[in-house]
Amino acid sequence: MLAAGQALPGDWRSQGVLHLERSPHAKLRSVPVRAVRITEGFWHKRRQVNVERSIPTLLELLEENGIVDNFRRLSGRKQVPRRGPLYTDSDLYKWMEAVAFVLQSEDRPELRAQFDQLTDEILAAQEPSGYLNTYYVEERKALRFQEQQRGHELYCLGHLLQAAIAYWRATGNRRLLDGGIRFVEYLIEIGGHGKQPLLTGHPELELALVELYRTTGDRRHLELAGYLLRGDGERLKLTPRDYVYLFSGKPFVERTKLEGHAVRAMYACSGATDYYMETGDEAYWRTLERLWRDLVSSKMYITGGVGSRAQGEAIGEPYELPNALAYTESCAAIGNMFWNARLLAATGEARFADVMERALYNGVNSGMSLDGTLYCYRNPLELTGNPEDKIRNPWYTTTCCPPNLQRVLASLPGYFYGISSEGLYVHLYDNNVLDWKLQDGMALRLTQKTSYPWEGTVEILVEPAAAHAFTLFLRIPGWARSAEVRVNGQAAAGKPQPGTYFAIRREWRSGDRVRLSFDMTPRLVASNPLVRENTRRVAVERGPLVYAMEGLDQKGLESLFDAALALPSKGFASEHRPEFLGGVTVLRHAGVAAEPPLASLPLYQPLDQAAVRRTRKVDLVLIPYYTFHNRGPTPMQVWIPYEP
Ligand SMILES: [Zn+2]
Repeated sequence: MLAAGQALPGDWRSQGVLHLERSPHAKLRSVPVRAVRITEGFWHKRRQVNVERSIPTLLELLEENGIVDNFRRLSGRKQVPRRGPLYTDSDLYKWMEAVAFVLQSEDRPELRAQFDQLTDEILAAQEPSGYLNTYYVEERKALRFQEQQRGHELYCLGHLLQAAIAYWRATGNRRLLDGGIRFVEYLIEIGGHGKQPLLTGHPELELALVELYRTTGDRRHLELAGYLLRGDGERLKLTPRDYVYLFSGKPFVERTKLEGHAVRAMYACSGATDYYMETGDEAYWRTLERLWRDLVSSKMYITGGVGSRAQGEAIGEPYELPNALAYTESCAAIGNMFWNARLLAATGEARFADVMERALYNGVNSGMSLDGTLYCYRNPLELTGNPEDKIRNPWYTTTCCPPNLQRVLASLPGYFYGISSEGLYVHLYDNNVLDWKLQDGMALRLTQKTSYPWEGTVEILVEPAAAHAFTLFLRIPGWARSAEVRVNGQAAAGKPQPGTYFAIRREWRSGDRVRLSFDMTPRLVASNPLVRENTRRVAVERGPLVYAMEGLDQKGLESLFDAALALPSKGFASEHRPEFLGGVTVLRHAGVAAEPPLASLPLYQPLDQAAVRRTRKVDLVLIPYYTFHNRGPTPMQVWIPYEP
């Protein structure tokens, strides 16, 4: 047993987003965030905006909306009423986790001081028992753990632990972590003797507890995660509807499909994958594999978004993937990315990296505006352009998505690489410098130079401290129609297969160069016809990016929805515009527009008359999906009709 204050095993500087050094069923170990410096390029720009605009402005809003005061009032530092929904503590914790990840990359004294200040405010509100929550206090104290389906007490603790672990890994400071451990001890005490059944009404504590176990080595932390994943259905008296919506409360391994609240499902799957990496329990793996296939075969949007319905923020039936009504909460795409990053760590299989990249570049990336001050809660695949539809906002009453997006961007360097007993895996491509070591201790620097995702060439400079034999596993994205790998100017032996890691085993010497080339020809993508809404429509992808059409880029069209792509295609013209939308490659394609405009037709008419349609030629412009709605309200669509 490890009490608060007892020494933690391991060096905080060497721990990644997930610390898998001693995880027996993880194929890959993580690389610490601090070991990867993302340099000038695609993600650098987004990360700068995150640190300089997004993170500071969100703290102002958290203060303005009383989220920090909710702690101050409990310690008597302020006499104010509690504000916001019952889960607001988690929003502050998530913001703090984002700050902690920033501090893993660079020293920012102001952010560090803010984190320490907030730690004071939070710990001053913690009860001597270890219990910490700003909602279940005073007249609601009697309700603690009595309404766990909606209560979010354990959810908030999960985010507290994640922030605290990230800060410990950033600075070696464990004050907040000790506070979190005190709360966990309290849970173990009240839950441990058959007294108080516990339920993560919103899964999240599961993954946080496994990470806590990786940090403390205290097996009880893993066991508590296991208990939560098994559920305590007998004593909790949950309804069948609860089991679906909450994605917790009954044994995870009895799940046969993804359903219920999308973020809950994605977090539960993430936590279960973490648990599997520590225990190797095959029943978990079978369930995870089954759920993953359910996701990618019929329940995931092309953007990596998850969650089809506003009602219950839920995953729908198979192939229920509406575009305008898509719920696709930013947090669900983030959960999808988290889950696939974990599956990738467990297996080293590229299919998981493909989903991770898809979600990251599209459904996650769209969630934060280009200037970093507005956020999507929903990330639909079609908008009518109605100005009432405020899709990007600075603040939400439930403000889960903004700090979630911030922590992804801040921790992103930690997702680029993995280490196995054989060598180094390269998962993501962008300009960066890796300074780390192989599993056998050999120091290694690796430098990527690229204009990815705009161009498909990646130059990699390999610099081991001394000549050394190991395998470089290079991800060949599943979307690449063809790829080429050269080492020191020579074609590498073997054919690189999209959707796999291309392994190059050799004695690497400092100065060796690898050159990857992926075919970046824009691709027309059809969906399974069972997605009825996408009948006779295509989506356009280029590299890892999904594209979309916005009304204000189309010249001479009365409505975006009058337009169709003209197929068969003579192809797209790609044009990189450094000053447009933060620097993007736009695509142009021949199209046709209905003549007269569709709005002039009757709502219903005989088929033989409707079939006679005239069109005129137009030039259509597409932009990367993640940039949608950055220039005010305008119609948008990802799935575009086509005319043969
Ligand atoms: Zn959210």
